[in-house]
Amino acid sequence: MHRMSEAKIIDGQAVAARLREAVAAAVETLSESHHLTPGLAAVIVGDDPASQIYVRSKARACVATGLASFEHRLPADASEAAVIAQIEELNRDERVDGILVQLPLPAGLDAQRMLSAVDPQKDVDGFHALNVGRLWSRQPCLVPCTPQGCLILLRTVHDSVAGAEAVVLGRSQIVGRPLAALLLAADCTVTISHSKTRELKDIARRADILIAAIGEPQMVKADWVKPGATVIDVGTNRIVGADGKAKLVGDVDAAAYAAAGAITPVPGGVGPMTIACLLRNTVIAACRRRGLPDPAL
Ligand code: NDP
Repeated sequence: MHRMSEAKIIDGQAVAARLREAVAAAVETLSESHHLTPGLAAVIVGDDPASQIYVRSKARACVATGLASFEHRLPADASEAAVIAQIEELNRDERVDGILVQLPLPAGLDAQRMLSAVDPQKDVDGFHALNVGRLWSRQPCLVPCTPQGCLILLRTVHDSVAGAEAVVLGRSQIVGRPLAALLLAADCTVTISHSKTRELKDIARRADILIAAIGEPQMVKADWVKPGATVIDVGTNRIVGADGKAKLVGDVDAAAYAAAGAITPVPGGVGPMTIACLLRNTVIAACRRRGLPDPAL
């Protein structure tokens, strides 16, 4: 029997802090050896409150790591042409190595068209179709940040995941699909599930590695988890607790901690990895654009 105390809690805060230190060291080396300061630019359209918080924390993280940070704000009623013109200006800007278009975009703007305007070499979110195709065909690319963060966390508990049965709950462009590609590249046997999947619990229970990226608070119960499995909870859901206070919970129910061998908590698991991987991608993009070798990150 696996009891609650037996699940190893994967400390995303600590892993992300180590990655950020490594990125900061790589930035210092680039500055000393190539007089180069990698730069990250965010394009923010409108005033979605969650996006404002996220963009502010990205900017702080950039400064703390020694990266240059640029912000370009456009009004919620900006035209597609205006947003694309802004992106194209950043494509040409030599100080900018990474461009992110903050999602969600206001209704009326076609996100895919905006993302396609980003120079694939500066596409640090890894959402451009060229990077998506390269990921699936195992060519060098910029990998989406949250899935990359999940892989790094997995590697803290598994030297190798080759041959493991991995089940990904969720098939979104930003989490489920790229994560499935990464797990496949790491030689897992991968199942991708979604809202039309039948017998979800039985499929989840097969997993040695269970990834929950659904966006449904505490949906994954203890009996969905194979005893001893490693569980990565990507879900970030705001709910009102029994005490009437707002709190952040994952897609995995607390009772499932008793079954898991190792699990990422929410908050403090996958969340902190996303920005750390964004900083990592910016430094990688800066090196590749100049024909320099990838930093060891
Ligand atoms: P999406 O809403 O884009 O995708 C959700 C996926 O889950 C879809 O593939 C959907 O299926 C599937 N799904 C929804 N409901 C069910 C259900 N009842 N049964 C089975 N599958 C279901 O979400 P994201 O991928 O963007 O995000 C997922 C979660 O991860 C969210 O909680 C989000 O907040 C969090 N997140 C956290 C990040 C972090 O940094 N920690 C970063 C990004 C996301 P279908 O395709 O059929 O609709």
